[in-house]
This record gives sequence, C-alpha cells and structure tokens, in this order.
Amino acid sequence: MSTTFDDIQAREQQFVLQTYRRQPVAFVKGSGSRLFDDTGRAYLDFVSGIGVASLGHAHPGLTAAIADQAATLLHTSNLYFHPFQADAAARLAALSGLQRTFFCNSGTEANEANLKFARRYWHTLGAKERVGYVAVENSFAGRTMGALSVTWDPHYRDPFQPLIGPVTFVDPERPETLVAAVTDKTAAVIAEPIRGEGGIRMLPDRFVQAVKDVCATTGTLLIADEVQTGLGRTGHPFYFQALGWTPDFVSVGKALGSGVPVGAALVSERVAKTIAAGDHGSTYGGNLLACRAAAYFLEQLTDKGLLAHVQSVGAHFERRLRTLALRHPVVVETRGAGVMRGIELKIDATAVVEHAREHGLLVNRTATRVVRLLPPLTVETAEIDDAVDILDGIFASLPAEVGA
Ligand code: PLP
Repeated sequence: MSTTFDDIQAREQQFVLQTYRRQPVAFVKGSGSRLFDDTGRAYLDFVSGIGVASLGHAHPGLTAAIADQAATLLHTSNLYFHPFQADAAARLAALSGLQRTFFCNSGTEANEANLKFARRYWHTLGAKERVGYVAVENSFAGRTMGALSVTWDPHYRDPFQPLIGPVTFVDPERPETLVAAVTDKTAAVIAEPIRGEGGIRMLPDRFVQAVKDVCATTGTLLIADEVQTGLGRTGHPFYFQALGWTPDFVSVGKALGSGVPVGAALVSERVAKTIAAGDHGSTYGGNLLACRAAAYFLEQLTDKGLLAHVQSVGAHFERRLRTLALRHPVVVETRGAGVMRGIELKIDATAVVEHAREHGLLVNRTATRVVRLLPPLTVETAEIDDAVDILDGIFASLPAEVGA
C-alpha cells in the first residue's frame, strides 16, 4: 500500500479514472472532528466527507458495532431476512413519519428509487401518463441517469443528454413557475428543503407554501431530497418538518451510516401499497453492516442526545457566523441551519478553501462563491470557535480591495 502523498498521487494518476479534482493532501487517520494526513499533521474537519461522518471519525461506539458485525456476518443479500433492517427502518419511520424504508447504498440511489416509486404509484392507479417530474433550480440529486435528470446544473447534465424526461426546472423565487409546471402529467415534485450543493440556499417562504398547495390541489407526489439536510444536520430530524411539508417520499444517505455507505428511500404507506415485490432491488442494499451502522447512528441521534447537541452548537455556530459576516465586507451573507452552513462571498471561494487547509481547517467550496461548512454532528463549541477564528484571520488577510 502507498503511504506517502507523492506515491499515493502518482499511483492514482496511473490507475484511477480521473473524474475528481482532488486537493493535494492524503488522509490516513481520523479522530472526532480531526483528520490526520500522511505526515501526521492534524486538520479540523468541517467537511466531514461531505456531510457523512456524522459521529465524527473513529467514533468508539460505532467502531465497536461495525467491528462486531464484521466479525459476525457482513452480507447475505435480500434473498433472506436478517435482524437489523427492521431496527433501522423502525427508527427512520419514527423520525420521519413515513412508514416504509427501502435500503440502498447512496443518496443518489435513494433519489433514483423514489423517482421510480413515484411513477409506479401512478402506474398502479392507472394514471400511466403521469410520468413527469418538476425539480428546482440549483438543486443536486446525484449522477445516475434518473437523479442527474432532476439535477439542475447543465455542466453535469449536458454531456449525457438525452436524459430521463420530461423534467421541468422551476425558479423558487417565482412560485408561479411551479404552479405552471405541475400538470396532470406530473408524477412528482422533487426538492431539497435546503439546497446544499447549490450553495446552502434556503427556499423562500412563498415557494415553500406553493409546494404544499400545488401538491395538495393536484395530488402530485412530493419527494423531499434530504440526503444532505436530513438526519439531524439542521437541528431537525428532517428539514421538511421545519417547512411544514408532508412528503410521500424522503431520500436519505450521507449521515445515515456515518461513513458506512448506506442510503434509504422512505415512502408513505399510501405509496407503499402501490409497490409490488420485484419493483426495485439492490444486492448490497440494507446489508447487515450498513443497517447495524445506521441503527447505531439513529440511536445516538434520538436516544443519546445528538439532536439536542446539534441544536445547541448550531445556535452558537449561527451567532459566530453572523458576527464574522459583519466584520468582513467580502462576505455577502451566511445561510443555513444547525451545522449546515454556507458563507457566500463576493469572490470565488477557492482561495479561502486553500488558505483554510494551510491553516489546518478543511472547508469546501460550492456554487463557486460559497464556503460550505459541514462539520460532524458531534462537533464541539470550541471547535466551531477555532474554525470561525481561522476564517476570520483569512478574511482579514485578503487584500483590502477584495469585497470592498
Ligand atoms: N442529494 C443531495 C441533496 C445531495 O447533496 C447529494 C450529494 O451531495 C446527493 C443527493 C447524492 O448523494 P450521493 O453522492 O451519496 O449519491
């Protein structure tokens, strides 16, 4: 195995398909909110594997659960029962109010499943013309053909046309575009309650209300893509609850396994009744390791006080970022909820991400000018202070003309 950065990079360049533009660092170890590179240098991790390491790195309880499961039984397939799927599904039902879970392996797959289930619902009801989707500008749903079709950014979509259709993208600043887009041929509206990849963008109240009204009056199904916002990250179990939506589908991933790949499509009972055996499937989906990790994470979230912890540190995070924004003219605004935060700048955020890394803080850039902060849900107040202090220093060191 390669152990130094140069060796790792050289071997990747030779053998790994070059679909990613990686930053020049290789991590070999983690602990809590910290990552360690191949030289032993520590970094404060406010990316958490893009919102995945919900319990932080090398969490002792999760590690023990995974190790125990690995030593017992990893995988048997969905041909047979095992003890952990219902455990994790029951916890998801209690958190979301949606009764049924289909387990898969990623957020993309969760969206893919829900897009399929929405069509299946109408097909079962005999409304076979209801096959269209309405999606939101600046949304991101994944890279498979279905999920990509409802992803907004044309850079992701255009090289792969034709995609699945019909899909109409609507502008949340103009709710009337939603009303016009939903027709008697629409199967579902899909929306992220806060658009994550799109720049931690909140939905305007009028659009939130329009989604509710349109779905209620037309019967159109609502898919809440909670892959990034769900499972405590915003301080709510799911952010659709804060918006007052009642979706028939919720897509989850990222935080669910805290690093063990697992996703889930949550489905209401009225839709579940229209799905038949054989309609969808996955070899790996919901295997013992994934469900054991998911059940462990969900127990921490609800029974062990993690949700309350996010609410408390999230409020502190918000206060610190508000003050930061007031101090630096380069900041346009800060947005988000809980420990899902974005700082929109007047400039491209690339340099800030690089400077932060040099100062031992990992953050990432999204939507060009937004610094995105997604620490583990277990992040401590003092770590938030350290991260904001580093950003404060970086913004202060930018040339005076920047953002003036
Ligand atoms: N949906 C949303 C809202 C996301 O943020 C992402 C990933 O960033 C996805 C779907 C895709 O999830 P994954 O990369 O786990 O397939």
